[in-house]
Amino acid sequence: MKKNKKLLIPISSGIDICQKKFGDKAFILSNLGKIGYPIVDGFFVSSDILKQIDLNNVSPEFPNNFLINGPFCLRSSPNRKELAGPEAFLYLGLNREKLDELSKKIGKKNSILLYLNHIKDFGIRVFDLEADFFENKILTTLETNQVHSLNNLDIKSLNFLISEFEHYCSTSLGFDFPQDPSKQIHYGFKAMLNEWQSPTSKILRSSLGFIDNDYLGLIIQKMIFKNVKSTDIDLEIQFVDPDTGKEKINGSYQKGGNHYSYPRHFNGNNFKKLLLEKIEIGRPKFNIFSNHFFNKIQKLDKLASNFFEKKLKYQFIITHKNLFLVDANDVDLKTSAIMKLQIDKVKNGIISKQKMLTNIDPEMFVQSLHPQINQNSKLDIIGVGLPASPGGISGRIAFKAEEAIKMSSKGINVVLVRSETSSEDIRGMHASAGVLTLRGGMSSHAAVVARGLGKPCVVGVSDLNINSSLNTIITSAGEILKSGEMITIDGSTGQVSKGNAKMVQPKLSKNFFEILNWASGLGKISVKANADTVKEAVHAKGFKVDGIGLCRTEHMFFEKNSLQIMQKILLSSDKNDKISFISNLSKIQELEFEKIFKIMRFKTVTIRLLDLPVHEFLPNSINELEVLADELKLTFLQVSDLCRQMAEINPMLGKRGVRLGILLPELYKMQVQAIIKASINVYGKNQSKFPPEIMLPMVSTFKEVNWLKNLIDGVLTKLSEGINFKISYKLGVMVETPRAALKAGELSKISSFLSFGTNDLTQMTYGLSRDDSGSFMRNYLEKEIFPEDPFRSLDLDGVGELLKIASKRSRIANPYIKIGICGEHGGDPKSIDFCKKIGLDFVSCSTYRVPIARLAAAK
Ligand code: PEP
Ligand code: MG
Repeated sequence: MKKNKKLLIPISSGIDICQKKFGDKAFILSNLGKIGYPIVDGFFVSSDILKQIDLNNVSPEFPNNFLINGPFCLRSSPNRKELAGPEAFLYLGLNREKLDELSKKIGKKNSILLYLNHIKDFGIRVFDLEADFFENKILTTLETNQVHSLNNLDIKSLNFLISEFEHYCSTSLGFDFPQDPSKQIHYGFKAMLNEWQSPTSKILRSSLGFIDNDYLGLIIQKMIFKNVKSTDIDLEIQFVDPDTGKEKINGSYQKGGNHYSYPRHFNGNNFKKLLLEKIEIGRPKFNIFSNHFFNKIQKLDKLASNFFEKKLKYQFIITHKNLFLVDANDVDLKTSAIMKLQIDKVKNGIISKQKMLTNIDPEMFVQSLHPQINQNSKLDIIGVGLPASPGGISGRIAFKAEEAIKMSSKGINVVLVRSETSSEDIRGMHASAGVLTLRGGMSSHAAVVARGLGKPCVVGVSDLNINSSLNTIITSAGEILKSGEMITIDGSTGQVSKGNAKMVQPKLSKNFFEILNWASGLGKISVKANADTVKEAVHAKGFKVDGIGLCRTEHMFFEKNSLQIMQKILLSSDKNDKISFISNLSKIQELEFEKIFKIMRFKTVTIRLLDLPVHEFLPNSINELEVLADELKLTFLQVSDLCRQMAEINPMLGKRGVRLGILLPELYKMQVQAIIKASINVYGKNQSKFPPEIMLPMVSTFKEVNWLKNLIDGVLTKLSEGINFKISYKLGVMVETPRAALKAGELSKISSFLSFGTNDLTQMTYGLSRDDSGSFMRNYLEKEIFPEDPFRSLDLDGVGELLKIASKRSRIANPYIKIGICGEHGGDPKSIDFCKKIGLDFVSCSTYRVPIARLAAAK
């Protein structure tokens, strides 16, 4: 027992507390106490106490001179401020004995009412007793007495209810409702522990990206009771406008006893008006805003702002004689306000630009770039998956790409729901406002494409099932959602809910671009974009990227026309037909490349030759098979047979990347020709000053690269005929197989640049499918087998080791080599930090993550 006491720190002691053990709230309150804030008496409780309760059912002992001061308020203090923790417990320690004492402060009836509600709430929350029993008892008593509310019952009836409640407790529990304050506190602690460890809390924590199983710190304090007849008031106040970051007094106050008035809100001008008008609160005439405590609060806030370098919002109780700080939390500043405050600090010479960048969490920009679900929305959550592409969206369910296109053409917001997506779905994804797949991981097709398009996406939601014959989703609770019904997905947390939610729309402010500019100037590594289409290139340019680091050419075929040509190339058995279909693509590609080069003029553009996951391009629907059979002059059966033959058992390791390019060289020849012609169209005789970068995917050997280099050089030689100026290109290799990483030295001898394709490299290093990992990733994270989803944040120990080996070997072999990364990790701040540490030259990421990467690059 003695040992426990060390884990309890009296609030008034001024002893330093450890934030990790006692939690963020306790840390703030204890420091506010030191600054001079009047904190209500009590104890900070270390998270080790909940651990002891969990393991040994041992509660701490509180000194008697504390226990006699009840009732108490027990609050959670998680070690991360982002986590809310269980709701506070009020009135712990309230018992029959306390009623007389309490009556003197708040009146007899009020104190009885409090005790009555306390038995009910405690019984339900701590002992799991039936809420219905309490409610029904109250209703029948109200009916018998012909009144509508508990406040209207006389004391005798209230006492009758209390004895009924106590009787129900003792018969259900086998012991009396605990009167001993220390027992109530013990049960309160246990309830906090249970709530913290409940599956719902764990899911919520992991949906916010926190998967540690740390215990919870607590704060127990004496409760302050306001006298009904006095001028005591509750005051909530902050000195900053949460939207703009400008100084502004705002908050609310509520006078007198607990339930007798509604809070009055004040802010800015309204506050000044209140000050002038000398608002009367209670008796005698009293104006909080001219009260000397108010000036004290203002002064303390200045001290606190300097100490914490952030703004807090406070909850006080103010009486004529006393001021008590009840609670203090970070102000929920909007990104716009954070940016303004930080920029002001730089402009006023308080901090350097570099320091400002370290103060800003790069992920914060997500809020500026994507719509977010309004925090006050009540969500009916039906599943949680992986948060694959940020932002929130409500839309009507469409199960097929065609359906999504039709619905969106009528102006309907659509969420495309698929088991998993393939190339055929890209058109549907373009038409949809969001994407939900039941399978897939953080770098599955749906995730990568949605991120590129900047659309919210949740993948790997194993709580949901699709009944494809009925076109319905079935939830784990057995609910059925049909096509056209409304759902909401939150691509930032992975939550999927039924119905509509209010959204907060993003805004790109002047401050946003100012910070981006500063970050560009201070960048320690180039930031490029993964942009596959003209639209994405325009978007990337808006963020002032240093170039395009990955243009996935297979993503250019989402137009029905070009997708069909690609399918004909794959399915036609006649070589000449194949070649003629390939040539049909040539002009389409050339025009597309030309537009992209124009947009990115003078900046590097890396075009990756086709990395066709053949299975994603084979037709699936009967309709498509029929159309293709018609076009290829084959029967339906022949085409579907061909598709079956072409299907691969392990398609991600199949005829992808350079393997297809070598088997069907005309495909790559066509692309190289289109790339070079497009660059000549844009740069004319200066083409060789701005050579396009041609990148080879899925390489594993030197010979593959050498073979294709000869092919590319051959195309160049042909194109040079009849041209009187030099044309050139730069050759790059994607390092995305472990073998390529190990042989990077050799590969870099014939390359100008290497780019780590960490999506595939992660897949192959772990032997973990990027498409299926969503089904068990949450479970693995919860069990802490993986510290993080390796498709989201680079596995520094394993995959990172390969990156280190590869870059070291290639720099020795070719000192001029440029090395970078273009997997999804290129937009993850932690991975970017690692890339800087190992001396990479660039990161390339989805367009929408460029601002985040910019900030991370400059840190
Ligand atoms: C990768 O594998 O990391 C990569 C960028 O290529 P893709 O995602 O297109 O396979
Ligand atoms: Mg790849």
